[in-house]
Amino acid sequence: MSHALYPGSFDPVHRGHLDVVERASRIFDRVTVAVLENPAKNPVSTAEERVSFLQEALAEFGNVSVVRFGGLTVECAKQHGANVILRGLRAVLDFDYEVQTAMMNRHLEPRVETFFLLTKSRYAYISSSLVKQLAKFGAPLDDFVPASVAEALRRLASEGA
Ligand code: ADP
Repeated sequence: MSHALYPGSFDPVHRGHLDVVERASRIFDRVTVAVLENPAKNPVSTAEERVSFLQEALAEFGNVSVVRFGGLTVECAKQHGANVILRGLRAVLDFDYEVQTAMMNRHLEPRVETFFLLTKSRYAYISSSLVKQLAKFGAPLDDFVPASVAEALRRLASEGA
């Protein structure tokens, strides 16, 4: 059985992430989205909130589940029985970091392969950090994130977060 683990911060989840999961759900038997709990990254929403936004947005996909993790990605993959680590690629900018991480993960666990899905061009310029900046300045968000995420970001921005 092919089982891909899609790790990331997802702070917040946006349509580029969701498109990667949707396409992966047609390629792999199972996809597990793993939300990184890394307080050092100063996330705007808690790991629980990020998990529930993802669960809501991905509810229609029967072979997709969402978990939290805090350690090494390869350990999380092994723990959930995933044989693939899935990452999305936007531009050249992502490439160096992703290759370095993939090679390190291969060193740590050669039985887990990293698989890259190239973003669709209409999502290539979307990132969580840009979405957060738009929210801060009150720009429209609905083209980039699900409605519930847009609402939460607007609420946080109005609270001055
Ligand atoms: P991380 O902090 O691990 O980079 P992110 O939440 O920013 O976590 O991203 C998770 C994954 O989604 C990464 O593989 C990233 O390259 C990918 N990704 C981010 N934005 C996009 C996008 N617009 N289209 C496709 N993949 C994306």
